[in-house]
Amino acid sequence: MKKKDMAPREFSGPAPRGRKGLLIIYTGNGKGKTTAAFGAALRTLGRGHRVAVVQFIKGQWLSGELNALKKFGNQIELYPLGDGFTWNTKNWDNDVASAQKGWKKCTDLLAAHKHDLYIFDELLYVLKYRFLSVKEVTRGLSLKSRDSHVILTGRGAPRALLSMADLVTEMKEIKHPYKKGITAQPGIDF
Ligand code: ATP
Ligand code: MG
Repeated sequence: MKKKDMAPREFSGPAPRGRKGLLIIYTGNGKGKTTAAFGAALRTLGRGHRVAVVQFIKGQWLSGELNALKKFGNQIELYPLGDGFTWNTKNWDNDVASAQKGWKKCTDLLAAHKHDLYIFDELLYVLKYRFLSVKEVTRGLSLKSRDSHVILTGRGAPRALLSMADLVTEMKEIKHPYKKGITAQPGIDF
């Protein structure tokens, strides 16, 4: 008897039609959201294309990723804006102002149409804490050129953005060394 061919020989969806700018969301409670975004940055840079990164919350990534990505010179623009946030000190007005300033940077970059990939790292946290409205973000994203890609990261992506997105991946925690008291590792966590 002839065996059934199980290999995915043909793409059954609509024919792919060249370059299409994607809205990509990496969300969820597991580790890997920012790492995945920077993985895509590496691919974009490797293609000789340009990347812009705005980081909303100050993290330790400056030490690892920034050091590496800076080596790509004017192929990449990096804006670590997180310094302005003060939610530990509960200064609401200050946090709202920082979020607005950060989003203004993002929309200026999108409107300038100079990059192929835009990463707005931890933007979703800023939405979660309501320092910025989802409406402002959906409106701003419309400035994106049709062939550029945008990646948003952070926990708790709002439904409106999930439905707008072309690609959504939820990082799910199965295990994390933090639970065993193992601290963040250079090269892996920052
Ligand atoms: P990464 O930057 O490593 O890709 P992430 O962007 O998915 O992580 P964030 O919520 O931005 O996760 O948290 C950043 C930091 O918190 C990283 O140092 C990461 O290792 C750590 N972290 C991520 N997920 C968890 C978790 N489930 N438990 C504890 N620490 C975590
Ligand atoms: Mg992150």
